[in-house]
Amino acid sequence: MKFIGAHVSAAGGADRAVIRAHELEATAFALFTKNQRQWKAAELSEEDCEKFRSACAQYHFSPDHILPHDSYLINLGHPVTDALEKSRDAFIDEMTRCQQLGLTRLNFHPGSHLQQMDEDKCLARIAESINYALARTKGVTAVIENTAGQGSNLGFRFEHLAAIIAGVEDKSRVGVCIDTCHAFAAGYDLRTGDACRHTFTQFEHTVGFSYLRGMHLNDAKSAFNSRVDRHHSLGEGNIGKTAFAWIMADPRFNDIPMILETVEPEIWAQEIAWLKSMDPDRQAA
Ligand SMILES: [Zn+2]
Ligand SMILES: [Zn+2]
Repeated sequence: MKFIGAHVSAAGGADRAVIRAHELEATAFALFTKNQRQWKAAELSEEDCEKFRSACAQYHFSPDHILPHDSYLINLGHPVTDALEKSRDAFIDEMTRCQQLGLTRLNFHPGSHLQQMDEDKCLARIAESINYALARTKGVTAVIENTAGQGSNLGFRFEHLAAIIAGVEDKSRVGVCIDTCHAFAAGYDLRTGDACRHTFTQFEHTVGFSYLRGMHLNDAKSAFNSRVDRHHSLGEGNIGKTAFAWIMADPRFNDIPMILETVEPEIWAQEIAWLKSMDPDRQAA
């Protein structure tokens, strides 16, 4: 079975995100557990956490189908020591918030070398940052997202994800999230069934589906191999609907949160309904 939702707003409290996901008839969702553009946030109270956990129980969302995303400010591969430490502390704070909310995974963009470090060194530094955070938290898996490769962001090649995983000591608490828009913009074609098969065969050989902990289902305004990150609604962009139907039909994507970050929240409910209709397990049920 596929679990499908969107990155919903947590304005008013994390429990509000659960209700917004329920209103979309989603079976998964993503959220920020704090303002994604600020370093600091008020600590979660026991009451906030309890409200969130009971809303999840009430609306039947399992922690394994919820994919919180960290702040955009964090760079776990930062070339400058002080800034790296600030990012590591903020990342541990994000993981701790997930732990308090009863969540099991945290999705993040790997990091950027800012033209001050070579790629391999930066990838090793990101792995070290993950080791550092995993040693100081419990029960939350670090979920590395592939990127479009804009600017000096790493993670745009499946090999980057594999290199980071190779440097992580506790392999049971590291995974990946594949964003279809980012993959396409980074030169992994998805426009036909054959292209999807080829791309995900490469993924299987380089990283492996055993590490897949989530998907971001986005069409792309950006062109193929452009290294530009611009999302679009499903079927409206340069990827097209075929890829999303293909993914929905493949059981290797079962039982993970599949999250829309598409550009028109007004049609998320329709996009979710369409994706669900493409799930063979739901058709059989
Ligand atoms: Zn994404
Ligand atoms: Zn993106």
